[in-house]
Amino acid sequence: MPYVNTKEMLIKARQQKYVVGGFNIVNHTSLVAVIEAAKENNSPVIIQTSQKTVKELGYKVLPAVIKELAKETDVPIAMILDHGTDTEVIKNCVEFGWTSVMIDGSAYPFEKNIEITKKITDMAHSKNVTVEGELGHIGGIEEHISVDSDKVLLTDPEKVLEFAERTQIDSLAVAIGTKHGFYDIKYELDFNRLGKIMDITDFPIVIHGCSGLAENDLNRLISFCPSKMNISTEIKHIYIDSCKKYIEEHPDEYEPVKKISYVQQQVKELVKKYMDIFGSTGKA
Ligand SMILES: [Zn+2]
Repeated sequence: MPYVNTKEMLIKARQQKYVVGGFNIVNHTSLVAVIEAAKENNSPVIIQTSQKTVKELGYKVLPAVIKELAKETDVPIAMILDHGTDTEVIKNCVEFGWTSVMIDGSAYPFEKNIEITKKITDMAHSKNVTVEGELGHIGGIEEHISVDSDKVLLTDPEKVLEFAERTQIDSLAVAIGTKHGFYDIKYELDFNRLGKIMDITDFPIVIHGCSGLAENDLNRLISFCPSKMNISTEIKHIYIDSCKKYIEEHPDEYEPVKKISYVQQQVKELVKKYMDIFGSTGKA
């Protein structure tokens, strides 16, 4: 039953130079879509839940459903709390069966970020739960995270090793110009900064805000071999758009299951596309 934490999955990805996708789910339909994509592509996968989704769905049902679905496959499946900022929610996720949590202390100064991140790693590691930290401050809007462009702080490569060492995190989300939400026409990624970070580290690096990047930028990011890249906004959009499309095309149909399967199929195809682009297909 390969319901695992992210440790080996991401270290292996870094060593073998491919990216594991972190895909945000909001309900059973999108959860099944992501797991089916992983099964069909024989790919490791990380299911991501926001604090909002966790509060909506509760702590008990999600891990129970994922564990059950994981029994039917050999692909490694992990579940992470995305952008944990509420200590109570993080503790409950660790307690109730998430295999990984993100502690986002990026709104705080360096020392304070270290302090709160270390508290979470101490607590999570005692339960075999892995931890993703964030250094720098990623821009854009995603659920309860909203960072204006003047508040964005790109990750200082000089601070990365100290942060990782003192917090004992398992993976690190870095700010190199990607942002949450879709991109405006003008955006700039700092590939040199990412290159420096990759050169000095040997642990898994995570890139957030990978929805809707230009193809050449996406491919260039992947070429640096971060271990995990997150896709959330694009999943939300395809989910809502395919709901709308189905209803428009079947205005007189009142059979929810047909609509659910259609939406699930669309989300699954998007996730499979990213698994192919990330190179994780066939790596389970
Ligand atoms: Zn994020």
